[in-house]
Amino acid sequence: ATPLSITTATGRGARHGVLYRNAEAIETAAKIDVVVFDKTGTITHGTPHVTHIAALGADGAYSADLDDATLAAVAAAEAQSEHPLARAVVEAAHERHLDVPECLTFTSVPGGGVRADVDGQRIVVGSDRFVEADARPDDLDAARETMRLIAQDGATPVLAAVDGRIAAVFAIRDTIKDDARAAIDELHRRGIGTIMLTGDNRVTADTIAHEAGIAHTVADVRPEDKESVIRALRRRGFHVAMVGDGINDAPALAGADLGIAMGTGTDVAIEAADVTLMNGSLRSVVTAIDLGHATMRNIR
Ligand code: ADP
Ligand code: MG
Repeated sequence: ATPLSITTATGRGARHGVLYRNAEAIETAAKIDVVVFDKTGTITHGTPHVTHIAALGADGAYSADLDDATLAAVAAAEAQSEHPLARAVVEAAHERHLDVPECLTFTSVPGGGVRADVDGQRIVVGSDRFVEADARPDDLDAARETMRLIAQDGATPVLAAVDGRIAAVFAIRDTIKDDARAAIDELHRRGIGTIMLTGDNRVTADTIAHEAGIAHTVADVRPEDKESVIRALRRRGFHVAMVGDGINDAPALAGADLGIAMGTGTDVAIEAADVTLMNGSLRSVVTAIDLGHATMRNIR
């Protein structure tokens, strides 16, 4: 490639939808040897859909579907949340043309799930770790195998408990972006390592990472711990880029050597980042790094 000046790199970047915050960001891009990717909205489209709902019957066995009243109550709790998984649950209720009731009380725990009081019922929706405190242990045991199958298939299992009994396991699938695999392969070809960082469970995370060709996963990470994963990598001597889109990703983006925000993501992420990718394409991560190298070859 032809060596570039900072100005040329800035202009060429802009034409490819890569916006650098400043000249330092271009220099740093040339040093990156590990790229950490957020999963939801970065590797995946971030618009998950419910594919199956397994209802737990009184006999402890699963049936194919959940009754309308319970689905409506679970959707009522999730309707208060902005989380992509919550939107998927609400959409599932709307697809059945259900009336979603109001909640009396509501709490949302980032990286966990939601709790709400709906028509006098206590509804708890979220990960197994989150729902655990509000569910009978034998219900959880009965749900494990179903959860494992959902996760192995690359979907996220979400548990819904009603008054302390697990009522259902939702399988919620988010698809991988078309260009993810090619972008990851390009990074590996340049000797750059890849890691996927997510609050989702390990089995789902590993399945998606494998599909995208990502070498390593760090799963079950609480939102507030994402930044410390980045800092730990830097302490080990890596030059780390973090790619993310969400509000929760902002501290990790700021904590990386090079924060890269998806332009399709939240303003909070864009403000925390050194580079913004305007088109949501993961190929632009490769472009951002390549332009850094082309520029530094000229300056050195
Ligand atoms: P990510 O790293 O993919 O953005 P989060 O930290 O937002 O993940 O969430 C981690 C996990 O917590 C989810 O995979 C899900 O199991 C659970 N969770 C969080 N919020 C909700 C919600 N509103 N409804 C259901 N599950 C949730
Ligand atoms: Mg995300």
